[in-house]
Amino acid sequence: MTIHYIDTNAYHDWQPGGESHPTQGRRYKHATRVLQQLANEGAVEVKFSTPRGPFLEELELVHSDEYIQQVLSDGECNEWSGSKPDQAAIAAMFFGGTMQAVEMVQGGSKLVVNLPGAKHHAMRTHSSGFCVFADFAAAGIRFADTYGKRVAILDIDVHHGDGTEVLLNERNDLFTFSVHEKGLFPGTGAKDESDKVNWVFNRPLASGSGDFELLAAVEDFVEAAKEFQPDVIMIAGGADGHYSDPLANLEYTELGFARAVRLVKDAFAELPFIFSGAGGYTPDDYTPAMWLSAILALAGKTDQEIIDLKIVERVRTVVSKRADLYAPQWVSADQEPKELHTEILPGFFMGGTADDDTIDYAKPLSTFEHGIPFDAVVTLYSWAQPMPWGIEELRYGFADANMSHVDEDRLHRIAQWAHDRWKEGKRVLVRCQAGMNRSGLVSALVLMRAEYSAEDAIKLLREKRSEVVLFNDAFVDYLVGLEAKN
Ligand SMILES: [Zn+2]
Repeated sequence: MTIHYIDTNAYHDWQPGGESHPTQGRRYKHATRVLQQLANEGAVEVKFSTPRGPFLEELELVHSDEYIQQVLSDGECNEWSGSKPDQAAIAAMFFGGTMQAVEMVQGGSKLVVNLPGAKHHAMRTHSSGFCVFADFAAAGIRFADTYGKRVAILDIDVHHGDGTEVLLNERNDLFTFSVHEKGLFPGTGAKDESDKVNWVFNRPLASGSGDFELLAAVEDFVEAAKEFQPDVIMIAGGADGHYSDPLANLEYTELGFARAVRLVKDAFAELPFIFSGAGGYTPDDYTPAMWLSAILALAGKTDQEIIDLKIVERVRTVVSKRADLYAPQWVSADQEPKELHTEILPGFFMGGTADDDTIDYAKPLSTFEHGIPFDAVVTLYSWAQPMPWGIEELRYGFADANMSHVDEDRLHRIAQWAHDRWKEGKRVLVRCQAGMNRSGLVSALVLMRAEYSAEDAIKLLREKRSEVVLFNDAFVDYLVGLEAKN
């Protein structure tokens, strides 16, 4: 099953209380990088999309005008001190991502993931518990009022989903079921606060409870949901019930968590699912691993398949490589190189093409006052126009995606061709669309023929052209793996 995954670089900058705050946006980035790796390997099918901002009328479904104004105009709320318009904008994007998920479900998507969603503590007039805008409650209302759909919300974050519950508890067409640790923040959610008439259920678990108790609670959800007959299931998949989490005392494992959501998936196999990450405070290992395990289960993976994918190890690997070899996976406009080409080493250039389908280099030869600046060019971007310069040009168009469709022999012949000419003293340009990934891959292969290690080659390219050259992990993995083989 295709995973429709909503993410953007801005999500990763979520840090409402600075570096010492438990909530860190990098947990989303780590999850995304591993998911992208799995997609590159063909282990899962993922369609990535970026969130849209929220519409005012959507925020008004669950929040007062004064509160919306306070956050969006003044940049203020209880989750930070003073005015932080950048964090307010990110919080709005989290909300917009979930509203976009609603539209994607309406468009036929069966599994949509917006990890920064399920801000289940936010209330009508104020933020609470790291939650600014109540996206799940708003999505439920949107489904019900605009599309006439009944929504069951299962909240397995370790904290009681009080905001979602309060905002929806008057409605009998929206079902909330929260499984949480008893006695933790926000202190509500006792079993006797359940209300079957309005489809509000709470299942507090004693401190120390683990997978067994989680599964039993989720079985009860499934039974009640069958009676409710939902059209859509939304899961607030907080990872903070994990045994390693510093903010709680439950003992869930990644596999137990995956089984819990699979139980729901199996019971409602025909229905669309929205999965969001709610809380989780071990950003560099278990929080992303919990989320990914659940997403994989929803996408149809078995326990054994999830085990074999070694998710925690993968998260730790992308985290440990983040600081040195691996660059950000997506790039903002200001990180792109300003120059069309860059001299990496004397006579060896790497570059891009100017626009989507045209290149500045295609301009009349007279514009080069001092003659054509190159003797040979490698073009790796199939839309680029040929160089009208009367010099040697070798073209190989391949996608800036994964390695599975790249003809490796051809790739190495091209690198050899460029290397040989450069070593003969010719000026060689390797170019692709933006001059980052495909040209980075071939340029690194040229440098590796000149005795550079993969890591040093990548480092040099980043120093000279842009720190985000080769942000495509699949290409980096290939280069590093190639070196290991030799
Ligand atoms: Zn939580």
